[in-house]
Parts: sequence; C-alpha cells; structure tokens
Amino acid sequence: MNPFDGLLDTVVTLQGWLLDRVLQAPLLALGLGSYLEMAFNGIEFFLWGVLQIGTAYLLLRPLEALWPAEVWPDRKAVRVDVLYTFLDRLGVIPLAVFALLAPLFLLIDGWLRLNDIIPPQLEDFFPALETRPLLGFLIYLAILDFAEYWRHRLSHTARWWWALHAIHHSQRQMSMWTDSRNHLLDDLISGVWFAVIALLVGVPPGHFIGLLMVVKTIENLSHANVRLSFGPLGKHLLVDPRYHRWHHALELPAGRRYRNGSNFAILFPLWDRLFGTQYFGATLPPTGIADDGSAGTSARSGFWRQQKEGLQGLLAALRNHGNRRTVTAHRVHSPALPLASHDSNAFSTHYPPSANSREDDGPSGSTHAR
Ligand SMILES: [Zn+2]
Ligand SMILES: [Zn+2]
Repeated sequence: MNPFDGLLDTVVTLQGWLLDRVLQAPLLALGLGSYLEMAFNGIEFFLWGVLQIGTAYLLLRPLEALWPAEVWPDRKAVRVDVLYTFLDRLGVIPLAVFALLAPLFLLIDGWLRLNDIIPPQLEDFFPALETRPLLGFLIYLAILDFAEYWRHRLSHTARWWWALHAIHHSQRQMSMWTDSRNHLLDDLISGVWFAVIALLVGVPPGHFIGLLMVVKTIENLSHANVRLSFGPLGKHLLVDPRYHRWHHALELPAGRRYRNGSNFAILFPLWDRLFGTQYFGATLPPTGIADDGSAGTSARSGFWRQQKEGLQGLLAALRNHGNRRTVTAHRVHSPALPLASHDSNAFSTHYPPSANSREDDGPSGSTHAR
C-alpha cells in the first residue's frame, strides 16, 4: 500500500467516525436526516481542507519568516485573509457553492441520462492512460489550468467581474493566505467554471480532490510573502512567488502591451507565454491597487465591507456607470523592492503608501508605514 492509500484510508475512517459520533445524532434529532449525505461530503471536504492548509502552513510560514519579500511592522492586514482561507478551505464556501449548484448538476445529469449520453473521459480517447494514472492526472491538471488562465484573464477584462476580483488584488500585505481572499460571488462563479470544465472533460471523481489539493497548495505558495524563484528553468515550468507577485504588482510592468495586467497563469506560465501576457521581473514589486475610491480598491476594508463594495461595484459596472478607472487602477508610480534587501528599514522607503492616502503618485512611494 502506498502512503497516499494510507492517507486516504485514514481520511475515510475519520469521515465515518465524525458522521457517526458527532453529526448523525443532532441531525436526526433536528429532523434533518435528509442532509446526512451532504454532511458526509462536507466532512470529507473539511478533512482534506484541514490537511491542505495545515501542510501549506507548515511549509510556507517558516519560509515567510526566514526570507520575506517584504517586512511589515505588523500583520493586522493579513487577518482578513486568514478568515477567507478558513471559510474557503474548511468547506463553508465550497459547501454553499455545492448547495447552490446541486440542482443545476442534477438537471444536467438527468438530461444526460435521459438522452443516454455518458460524458467522455480522456481514457476513452487514450486508453494507455488507464495504466498511467499519474500521466492522466497531469493532463487533467493542464486542461483545468488552461481553463483557469482564461477565467482569471476574463476577470481582469470584464468590468463587472473586475469589481469582484479587485478585492483579491487590494491586499498590500500579500501572503500565503491571500489566495482565498475573493468575493463570495467570485467564488461561486469560479466554482461553476471549474466544475463545468471538470464535468465536460470527464475528470474521474477519484482525481478531483487530489487535483484540488495540488492546485490550492501551489496557489498558497505563489502568494507567499517570500523571496523565492524556481530559477532560470523552473520559473518557466511552474508559477513561483516572484512570478505571481508581478501579477499583483501595484504598478504594471513598464511598456506592457496588455493593459489589464500580466502573469494570469495559476500553475503553468506556458499559457502567459502562448497568449502574450508574460512578464519576468527581476525585482519584487509592492502589491495592491491604488485606492481611488472605486469598489474593492481599499486595502483596509473588512470582510463585510469588501463583500458589499464588490456587489456595489458589480452593479455599477452593469449599469455602465463609472468604475472605468478600476481596471487600470494599478497604474501609479511606486518603486519595486530591491531584490537583495532584507533590511526592515527598507519598509519605510519602499513600501507603498497608505491605502487611504491620496498622495500615491509621489515618485518616492511616500512613507506611510503601517
Ligand atoms: Zn488577478
Ligand atoms: Zn493572486
């Protein structure tokens, strides 16, 4: 038995134990027996989420502490991202997405069965994959990542979608937790996107959790506040923290043709290379969006305010009122952090000015340390 099978067995055992000993009795007592299956699935998601975020934390927090890309005077701004991460990874948001989507998938499933349609799987076209599960896993990963590239790029292009995605970018203290900092509606859209693509290409259910675990762990790494690059070759193969930091840069790379940003890839930089949106910066830029008062641009908003502002921005964009500056709101002058600096004093001269400051355009980047 390989170690992954052992882990799988442990999770399944724990899942059954938690349902039998913890959730079953109260659900039955409350007359909610019909939710038992949903609870069972929820526990599975919760356990994998605990495992994923626990692993990411143990690997990445020491790196962030030892080799930070930025040194901050405090970590208060990170707290809201930790909240987003627990909601996301421990199943609250995914379960809500699942509950909302379940009727839609039942409908699709029913229609497919009625018409005797079985969605094809990759293995049907390439039978050799049946004996090479790792290769199959990597191909599914590449297909899903290709779809994720376009979802991400569109969320920067459509104004209504950017109003939601701007929340992800407004964080000026980007860390491993920032990956989950997303508007709930953005989560819902992303969930539909991911699930529909997975359904269309026939991702086997056994691969699904594994794919999610790999994607989420690499996403935590790419957001980590750490001076890490995968080197001259590796940086072309997999998105590293420096690559994704340039996606979050407060100022777009000079002379870029694509106006809404660069480095949209989630896992494989290849997509940016193919579609002309790639940029390898030699420095580590400050992250965030210039706070111009548009929805989602304030770095200091709390959870509920971000949710409210995201919706307001979306409605304003749909009504075609204003909000025209948000897409290009990165374009402020602010210097990149020098690569070699580990000096905490560097913060006061290189860290971007306060999110609430209207003096963002100063060539020195101003000095509002927080
Ligand atoms: Zn983005
Ligand atoms: Zn990001």
